[in-house]
Amino acid sequence: MKSSRITSPNEPLTLSESVTPTPEGSQVLVKVKSVGVCHSDLHLWEGGYDLGDGKFMKVTDRGVKYPVTPGHEIVGTVENIASSVSNISKGDDVLVFPWIGCGECPACKVGNENLCDAPRSMGVFQDGGYSDYALIPNSKYLAKLDGVDPDVATSLACSGLTAYTAIKKANQNTPEFIVIVGAGGLGLMGVQIASAITDAKIICVDLDDQKLEIAKKMGADYTINSKDPETAQKIMSICNNKGADSVVDFVNAPPTAKLDFAILRKRGNLVLVGLFGGSFELSLVTIPLKSIIIQGAYTGNYDDMVELLALARKGVINPVISKRYSLDETNAALEDLKTRKIIGRAVINP
Ligand code: NAD
Ligand code: ZN
Repeated sequence: MKSSRITSPNEPLTLSESVTPTPEGSQVLVKVKSVGVCHSDLHLWEGGYDLGDGKFMKVTDRGVKYPVTPGHEIVGTVENIASSVSNISKGDDVLVFPWIGCGECPACKVGNENLCDAPRSMGVFQDGGYSDYALIPNSKYLAKLDGVDPDVATSLACSGLTAYTAIKKANQNTPEFIVIVGAGGLGLMGVQIASAITDAKIICVDLDDQKLEIAKKMGADYTINSKDPETAQKIMSICNNKGADSVVDFVNAPPTAKLDFAILRKRGNLVLVGLFGGSFELSLVTIPLKSIIIQGAYTGNYDDMVELLALARKGVINPVISKRYSLDETNAALEDLKTRKIIGRAVINP
């Protein structure tokens, strides 16, 4: 099989040939049709996350071993199955749940493998889908597409899934206004999902007018380019000068976090999702005085992914796929994402 792999941080990905594996135990071999290019692939390529104050969290300190084949938004056709597999058949078109856990920690025991203490996520801690084949450790991580377009389905494994969990958390306080910060791959899914599953008015913020235009088409009631120094005031006035009930930050960097706290109303609910990173100082008394909730959201579980597939099947959500690359073009795909040239999602079609 042919895979595009990260050999070390910031070095071009290289194409390598290896023997196509034969599935054993509960494993399944999937012939990859489409794999989403996620900003998290960029963090993996860059070697880690910005912690702020000049500090950097290396992915190798969290268990990543290079070389690794990235790609966690994997869709393909079942090519071969181990003898014990019965829930899936050769030829089925499937979406892979990539957030695989240890199966034994408290999170895994209640079905939240995405929050595992010792994660084995595909395309991060084990080889993923920037390849013509992907070996899936267990058939239980597959969900049948049953009619959902393969390119569209890719994003339901990560960007859509993360947006879905984040919006569910943002909806816990039945918001009148939700602010969505960032209209990239995740944020645009967030806008669609928020307009499908909440009753809130949606305000979307980004630096790019073209992305904001699309956010409007996807259901945002208001859009604001945060290059505008009056962004916070404008949001406050939309929210009756009380502030937003919920803010979902798909960027989560110092400038956006400052905005989040400035526009969050009393009893507000802040959901931090993005991994752009950095740090900033927070006035501690405002948290109890305003009695706000600050929570993180990290991907979602298998059941959430299946729910989301059902929403896509009904046409309630339609992920934006704007660009397609071949396996030889993975470096260009990551560069284009880094330089903000991608609207919605790009996919690789091996
Ligand atoms: P993306 O590159 O497609 O989108 C990022 C968007 O943010 C772009 O539209 C960009 O214009 C906008 N932006 C950047 N800086 C901004 C600023 N200061 N103010 C306003 N807008 C700004 O990225 P993506 O694939 O949507 O991923 C977003 C982040 O979420 C990444 O850091 C990614 O690693 C992370 N992520 C988190 C999870 C999770 O489970 N928590 C899962 C997947 C991805
Ligand atoms: Zn992702």
